[in-house]
Amino acid sequence: MPNGHTAPGLSEAGRIRYAPLAHANPGSVGDLMRILGVGAHPDDLEVHAGGTLARYARDGHEVFMAVCTDGAAGHLRIPPEHLAEIRKREFTQAAEAIGAQPYWMGEPDGFLFENADTRLKMIEIVRWANPDIIITHYPDDYHPDHRAASRIVFGASFMATTPTRLGKHPACDTVPALFYMDTTTGLGFDPEVFVDVTDTFETKMRMVECHASQVTWLREHDGMDLLDFVNDMAQMRGQQVGVAFAECFTLARLWPRVHAQELLPCSR
Ligand SMILES: [Zn+2]
Repeated sequence: MPNGHTAPGLSEAGRIRYAPLAHANPGSVGDLMRILGVGAHPDDLEVHAGGTLARYARDGHEVFMAVCTDGAAGHLRIPPEHLAEIRKREFTQAAEAIGAQPYWMGEPDGFLFENADTRLKMIEIVRWANPDIIITHYPDDYHPDHRAASRIVFGASFMATTPTRLGKHPACDTVPALFYMDTTTGLGFDPEVFVDVTDTFETKMRMVECHASQVTWLREHDGMDLLDFVNDMAQMRGQQVGVAFAECFTLARLWPRVHAQELLPCSR
């Protein structure tokens, strides 16, 4: 694992400990890393990055999956409070399918906003995972919760390194690399990096199938078959780079998140 984890807050001597960003060492796909995926809704990570997360997990990296909202708006007949329970269970099962550790943030579905409260909660999530890499939504995706999640993650993943902000978990000593995943249907998204997920595509589909309540909801509300949709998107991205199935990403190109190493599992 490339990152040591700086102890939280104050040292025994009462002085603030701080690992300067210049010491950050994010490693590369050749090293074992910690990967945090953050989705706005319980099925987002699986749909857009499930094959990539499965590849990381298969290759021995430690994978953490967090979801911001409770998904309680996503059904025509199941009452919201009952649906939230179902969706939490479905999300947990999907994470367990690749041995990832799940985190349920529980914000109200459809009302996710970047504010002081959500930033603090996300700082705790980032510190919990202490990631080398974060994968989350593209800032301009179609759903307001996706857009909010992207901005919350961006802000919190920087502030998670600040040890003066005390919390349950130690401050991170690295501002992680941040990759944005494909948009729904790929509209408005110009991919920079493709990951061949042919070998983990079955696993990705098993993860998506865990979200049985959403398969029903999307059929009834949007007239779409989620499994067909996920298959077609991965196939389309695969055709663009000459493999059977692919997922694609862009990188947040901002200091100090950009590193010379290759971080996505795309060329092995
Ligand atoms: Zn979503």
